[in-house]
Amino acid sequence: MALNNDWFTEICAVSGSAFSLKVTEKLHQEQTPFQWIEIYETEHFGTLMVIDGFIMLSDYDNFLYHEMMTHPVLFTHPDPEQVLIIGGGDCGALREVLKHREVKQTIQVDIDERVTRLSERFFPALCEANSDPRAELLFTDGIQWIRGAAPGSVDVIIVDSTDPVGPAEGLFSAAFYRDCFNALGDDGIIVHQSESPLIHQQLIRDMRNAMGSAGFSQQLTINFPQPVYPSGWWSATLAGKKETLTHFRKQASQSKSFPTRYYNHDIHLAAIAIPEFWKQLSV
Ligand code: SAM
Repeated sequence: MALNNDWFTEICAVSGSAFSLKVTEKLHQEQTPFQWIEIYETEHFGTLMVIDGFIMLSDYDNFLYHEMMTHPVLFTHPDPEQVLIIGGGDCGALREVLKHREVKQTIQVDIDERVTRLSERFFPALCEANSDPRAELLFTDGIQWIRGAAPGSVDVIIVDSTDPVGPAEGLFSAAFYRDCFNALGDDGIIVHQSESPLIHQQLIRDMRNAMGSAGFSQQLTINFPQPVYPSGWWSATLAGKKETLTHFRKQASQSKSFPTRYYNHDIHLAAIAIPEFWKQLSV
């Protein structure tokens, strides 16, 4: 929603708060079969993608989210070779995953091809790994696709979805997590973006319960800053079959062979720390 022509504003009704960015130009808008996509140029945050009125990413700060959705889970799995991304059509998570040399194949399943085509046009840096021979891009519903995945065929599933409304609603259900559980090997781990740790605690609790009832014995919610999302503070929830998810490949993380702008070994340790108020809420 634009308050006036110079600002894009996203209202977060549940917290009675709003976040605005000063925009210089609307670059594109279209209704796809799935969602309403807008692209803006902003004064300080670079290019901005908005879906159904909710900010997806900006040039300026998407590295925080994309690095934290990928590197913690990939350094937690003992040997991540087969990776599946559900959603993630902007391709920023895909680029980070492919920085890991041990990854042999990454399949990305986004329901809306237009998100990827617009990202190629307006966020070319995020799409620079799309032609990597290890990457396969599919455009179909991730909820249906995972039902047909071969049992035990995936090491890591990254659910880089929109909020739990519209086509993404079913991605937060126990039935979907059960299909993910079946597709994952014994060491398999899923990570799903889990909204604001300040505003959306009930959603995080519901997600963790759904993951538990799907068979995952371990859950871990990590947190990190994300200025363009409600409250400026975001989370991702990991679930695994047996590994204690706070244990990660510390040496590999410390001596990683690729550049990052936020993630490093110490950030990983900080992100898995449990804030006091989560303990009281048993999030
Ligand atoms: N980082 C963003 C956030 O948290 O707001 C998410 C970015 S990414 C653009 C979200 C993607 O999820 C979109 O491209 C959308 O098309 C995709 N998506 C939504 N529902 C889906 C489904 N059922 N299967 C596959 N992809 C889906």
